[in-house]
Amino acid sequence: MKILTAEFIRSCVGPEQFPNGGLPEIAFVGRSNVGKSSLINSLLQRKSLAKVSRTPGKTRAVNVFSVVTGDVQLARFMIVDLPGYGYAKVSKSIRAQWGPLLEAYLTDREEVRIVVLLVESRVPAAQDRATIEWLLSIGHLPVVVATKVDKLKPSERVAGLRRLGAELGLDDRLPVIAYSSTTGEGRDRLWTVLKERTRI
Ligand code: GDP
Repeated sequence: MKILTAEFIRSCVGPEQFPNGGLPEIAFVGRSNVGKSSLINSLLQRKSLAKVSRTPGKTRAVNVFSVVTGDVQLARFMIVDLPGYGYAKVSKSIRAQWGPLLEAYLTDREEVRIVVLLVESRVPAAQDRATIEWLLSIGHLPVVVATKVDKLKPSERVAGLRRLGAELGLDDRLPVIAYSSTTGEGRDRLWTVLKERTRI
């Protein structure tokens, strides 16, 4: 996938700040530290785009990027980086603030063409399974991506990914895409799936 432009648009702390240009949106969710910023940077082939937007106090915001790709024809869409969930160090009151924002974004917006759920290859969190069930219940069939797959030894890979699928309760509707932002593995496959599923 050829990325022509990728720009940070803004950090939204309330639904009124969500973009209103009507462009298709690809949303990324996952628990904190799962490798979400690294994956967005890797997908967009930009070194520090996702992290650049992480000014202090904004890490619980919904970060929006505008992207133009040009494989065969030009496609213009938004990448939306949703706040990481389940971060133990965050106080309950902060959690109470960002939960509704994430929920408002995922339940109310027609622009959301697809939700990409990131889970760690080696250590899926209990909350990941609950998130998948919740996404399904609100009508989103997520693309599940197993991050940091380079951390699995070649000998543990197949069994490891199978175990991950079982722990998350995945079935044929929800294939897992193995991804490594370090090696770039999975990038082409993820773009292919995103293009197929979003028709961007
Ligand atoms: P975020 O909090 O979900 O945005 O996670 P980050 O992208 O900041 O990554 C969290 C940590 O995992 C960092 O120390 C990254 O260097 C590391 N990391 C992210 N992706 C990979 C990967 O594909 N492979 C390996 N080995 N480490 C990764």
